[in-house]
Amino acid sequence: MSTGQQTTALVDLRSDTVTQPTAAMRAAMLAAPLGDDVFGGDPSVNALQSQIAGLLGFEAALFMPTGTQSNLCAILAHCGRGDEYIVGQQQHCYRWEGGGAAVLGSVQPQPIEHAPDGSLPLARIEAEIKPDDAHFARTRLLALENTLGGKLLPFDYVQAATQLAADKGLLRHLDGARLFNAATAQAEALGTDVYDEARRIAQCFDSVSVCFSKGLGAPVGSALCGSREFILRAHRVRKMAGGGMRQAGVLAAAASHALEHHVRRLRDDHALARQLAQGLAGIPALRVEPPQSNIVFVDLQGQAADQGAALLAHLQSQGILATGLYRLRFVTHLDADADGVARAVAAIRGFFAR
Ligand SMILES: *Cc1c(COP(=O)(O)O)cnc(C)c1O
Repeated sequence: MSTGQQTTALVDLRSDTVTQPTAAMRAAMLAAPLGDDVFGGDPSVNALQSQIAGLLGFEAALFMPTGTQSNLCAILAHCGRGDEYIVGQQQHCYRWEGGGAAVLGSVQPQPIEHAPDGSLPLARIEAEIKPDDAHFARTRLLALENTLGGKLLPFDYVQAATQLAADKGLLRHLDGARLFNAATAQAEALGTDVYDEARRIAQCFDSVSVCFSKGLGAPVGSALCGSREFILRAHRVRKMAGGGMRQAGVLAAAASHALEHHVRRLRDDHALARQLAQGLAGIPALRVEPPQSNIVFVDLQGQAADQGAALLAHLQSQGILATGLYRLRFVTHLDADADGVARAVAAIRGFFAR
């Protein structure tokens, strides 16, 4: 019932994780046949695992509660104690996951700096691969992330880096939390199909982790894909990490629905991100990084450099949520629309016009 109050919808651009399941997704969850997945008996989980493995061209897949657990299981299934993985300084599985691979698996990270386009320079990767010598950890794995901070890794680069790793005897893991955003950007640039591009990127790797709870709009869940034998090892780690879930099909059904219905629409999120960036063009206090996917980074410069907190508070007072302080971040998603983005642009312009 209406309270008679004027309510303005919140425009939440903090992350693409804030989406609510759509009515159709909720219906799919409600209708999902369920079983106990710890006994391997949940038909909806099994269907999702086949679906994502088939889509990305792998033998097998495992449903995961989170992307963090998925990356952890991947690293621990590829590496043992005293092994090492090469990773970028800004990658989620090194910087934003509590050091899980080191803490829980005794796997040492070897972080390296990213080039401005997000890639890890091939010469730097090669220089960090340790010789077989008792002084060193054994370098076992190269981990990449795509998209990384909203940036699409150039496909030529992905091919070259994963080929280099293979030539040096390393395994390759992709943190593809936003793989379908990467595939969307790549398909748009090449005039090809988004599912084909997702598979083309994924096939450069021995394992790939994908999040359903980001741009794909599911409430919970990720999947880890790889060979059957790799997935058996990852399954053991998942159990150890407390990730054995029971009637998880209620969540897997949401993920399956997202894979079918929310992949092609990611291009709308990318268009909204461009709309936001274009709307902010020409404000002298802002440097807007042209978005390649659904994330817009905005740097405050000059006298505005310390205005981040004030700007965020101003936006919040207008019902617009974003994150960051000196570097603001706006993320578009299923529950954001052109109207909301226009309101965000107007509110930011209003702040600098004061
Ligand atoms: C969100 C994210 C993860 C982790 O996913 P959670 O489900 O939040 O644990 C991993 N990698 C990247 C690149 C992410 O964006």
